[in-house]
Amino acid sequence: MSDAPDLVEQLATAAADAVRARRAAIEAGAAGALRGITVELEVGHGGRVVDATSYLSWKDVNQDREENGGMSEGRLRVTTEADRARLQAARARAEVCGACGRPLGADETVYLERFAVVRSHLWGPVGRECASPDLLGQAAGTEPELCAACGRGVYYGSGYRRRGQAICSNLCAGRASAAKQRARGRT
Ligand SMILES: [Zn+2]
Ligand SMILES: [Zn+2]
Repeated sequence: MSDAPDLVEQLATAAADAVRARRAAIEAGAAGALRGITVELEVGHGGRVVDATSYLSWKDVNQDREENGGMSEGRLRVTTEADRARLQAARARAEVCGACGRPLGADETVYLERFAVVRSHLWGPVGRECASPDLLGQAAGTEPELCAACGRGVYYGSGYRRRGQAICSNLCAGRASAAKQRARGRT
């Protein structure tokens, strides 16, 4: 027997657990109301599943209702391949605004906004010009948190699920966890 984890089995188990964990919410929905569940599994450096996030989407949640509810939900939307490519580039390195593609300064504060994508959503950094009025309002008069890797300011949109330190992009997430591992190695 080896103690090396079988990644595929871990992924399969984590996905099944993530779906079962939402049983109450799924069963509470009216019959036929569930449109889908998206499970995101994050694999850490040791080849282990370190995080599982699931998103339920419902058939009766439509754009009108979200807008009438006064939410910024659906304001930033990924519909075309170009939208997707722009958002992925922004998520990767935060060098461009995820909404309009404007180049972002290396020390420019970013606003992590929620983008609606088919059956799910993603969070990505945008410049001030594309941040929602809600988030700009929250940000006003408060200092941004600083990205743990590059030190730029970061404001989080409401509903963002924090995992520890402030982080602006995937690149900085990698840098921050590499720095943590180095620090651990030294002790
Ligand atoms: Zn922009
Ligand atoms: Zn950063």
